[in-house]
Amino acid sequence: MAAIDGLKPLRDVIRDHELVAKKSLGQNFLLDLNLTAKIARAAGDLTGADVLEVGPGPGGLTRGLLAEGARRVLAVEKDSRCLPALAEIAAHYPGRLEVINGDALEVDVRAHLTPPIKIAANLPYNVGTELLVRWLTPPDWPPFWESLTLMFQKEVAERIVAKPGTNHYGRLALLAQWRAEARIVMVLPPEAFTPAPKVHSAVVHLKALPEPRFPADARTLERIVAAGFNQRRKMLRASLKGVHPRIEELLLKAGIPPTERAEQVSLEQFCHLARLVKAAA
Ligand code: SAM
Repeated sequence: MAAIDGLKPLRDVIRDHELVAKKSLGQNFLLDLNLTAKIARAAGDLTGADVLEVGPGPGGLTRGLLAEGARRVLAVEKDSRCLPALAEIAAHYPGRLEVINGDALEVDVRAHLTPPIKIAANLPYNVGTELLVRWLTPPDWPPFWESLTLMFQKEVAERIVAKPGTNHYGRLALLAQWRAEARIVMVLPPEAFTPAPKVHSAVVHLKALPEPRFPADARTLERIVAAGFNQRRKMLRASLKGVHPRIEELLLKAGIPPTERAEQVSLEQFCHLARLVKAAA
C-alpha cells in the first residue's frame, strides 16, 4: 500500500493500539489509505476549509482528509481507545487536527469550526441517518456546512438519491433533495472494510443549495411528507387526513390526484401542497 503521509500503515496502528473492532459502535474500518484519500477527494477542494469528521476510529479517513489539504479537521470519536492513534496523526500535522472524545449526537461542534465547513465521514451505521436528518433540518438555511460526503450502507444511500415512483423514494429523498444536490459518488464492496460488513456501502455527496429548490414552510413540508410515507400504500386523501380537514380540495389545487400514493408525488408537488396547506391553516 502506498504511503500517503509517512505514518504507519493502518494495520500496524490497529495492532499496536489493540483496536479490536466493536460491533456496538458500528466499527468497520477502512485500511486502504489510497481509498480514504479518494473519499477525501470526493469532498471537493479541502484547502481553506475546516472539515468535521464523525467517527475517525484509527484515522484512515482523517489521514486522507489531511493529506488532501484540509485546513483543519475536527474529529469527534466516541471510543476513547482510538485517542492515542489519533494523537499520533495530530503530532504529524501540527495544529491541523483537533479530536473531541464524545458522542456526535451530543457534542456541539459549531464553536470549534470556522467557515467554510465541510463534513466528511464513514458513519457508524447506528447513528448515520439520525445525524444526516439533523444536518438537513436546521432551523435556518443555508446550514453551517457547505457539503456532506458520507459513507452509508448502500441501501440508505439509495434512499437519499431516490426519484419518485421507485421503491426507495421517501422522506429521506425529499429531505435531502429539497435543500441539497445529492448523488452517489462511489460504491464499495464489503471487503473494502475490516471487518467486512454484510452489505455494500456507498459514498453520497450532498451539496447545500443556497436556498431550497422550491419554496415551502419546512415544518409543514416535513409534516406532510411524514404523514404521506407513514402509510405509503394508502391514497393521499386518507394518509393526509390529519394534516388538513379540506385535504382533498388542496390536493386537487396542487395538481395531485387525491387517489395518488405518496411515492408517486414529486418534490415540487409536495412543496406546492405544503404552501397551500400553510395558507389554508
Ligand atoms: N473513520 C473510520 C474508518 O473509516 O475507518 C472508522 C469508521 S467506523 C464505520 C465508525 C466510527 O464511528 C468508529 O470509530 C466508532 O467508534 C465511531 N462512533 C460510533 N458511534 C459514534 C458516536 N455516536 N459519536 C462519535 N463516534 C462514534
